[in-house]
Amino acid sequence: MSEAYWIKKMEDKPNFKLGQNFLLDTNISRKITKLVQGQLADPIVEIGPGTGSLTNELLKDNYRIKAIEIDKNLAAITEERFSEVPNIEVINQDAMEYDYSQLTGPWWILVSNLPYYIGTRLLVKLITEVPVIHRYVVMVQKEVAERITAQPGTKEYGALSVVCSLFATPKHQFDVSKHCFSPVPKITSSVITLQRETLFDEEDRLEAFRLSKIAFQQKRKKVKSALQDFFSVEDLEQLGINPDDRPQNLSPEQYLELAKSLN
Ligand code: SAM
Repeated sequence: MSEAYWIKKMEDKPNFKLGQNFLLDTNISRKITKLVQGQLADPIVEIGPGTGSLTNELLKDNYRIKAIEIDKNLAAITEERFSEVPNIEVINQDAMEYDYSQLTGPWWILVSNLPYYIGTRLLVKLITEVPVIHRYVVMVQKEVAERITAQPGTKEYGALSVVCSLFATPKHQFDVSKHCFSPVPKITSSVITLQRETLFDEEDRLEAFRLSKIAFQQKRKKVKSALQDFFSVEDLEQLGINPDDRPQNLSPEQYLELAKSLN
């Protein structure tokens, strides 16, 4: 059965607000699945299986899947499509509200063609709060992928780049044309991976993220002004940070140094 067959099974029109653009091109689903790089039967959490195009490819590689889908109708379609497959559990719930402490075991891999409206919020929540997920293979808007993987000093670099680099190693993998989806979205997408590190100073990293958010709220100011409530010019100089630099010139590691110095 083709992907179009499963999309036609929807009772309602795709819900634009829920980011319902379904992958028609199975070559892309296969390319995404190859990036998972897990071991046989590794557990995967998939956010938003939709009509199951990506899920289908993941199941071919024998992964065990917990699929969280907010839309009741789509959750039912996914259930029906894979009713003969033992390796999948479909959960009809909002991924923002799911209790991720239910992901037991040493590690999980998250795979998702993320709904655009919650993509960054969900990603930040998961990388900062759910260490059991050690690898992410996600499709996001191209512009979000550029912000996540941006280097200091570029115009895309911001608090999102800082937090993603502090908790994981983000990597741009490939772009996906909007014509690979139905309905066709307005934007180009990108697939990225994030490999999460084993960390022993998560509180400091969260503090570094908080400082970067404060700094980037005033990104045209110099660091000495943007962070004046926390650091004197002397404090910054002692940490080897130029007080006249702008927030976008500080590396994730420098934000971490700043956070650590507050302890
Ligand atoms: N994985 C499918 C694919 O690649 O064709 C569908 C991807 S579509 C971009 C996003 C999916 O996420 C939709 O099925 C949508 O209903 C679902 N979704 C949207 N918001 C969600 C949320 N808060 N929690 C769980 N699923 C959500």
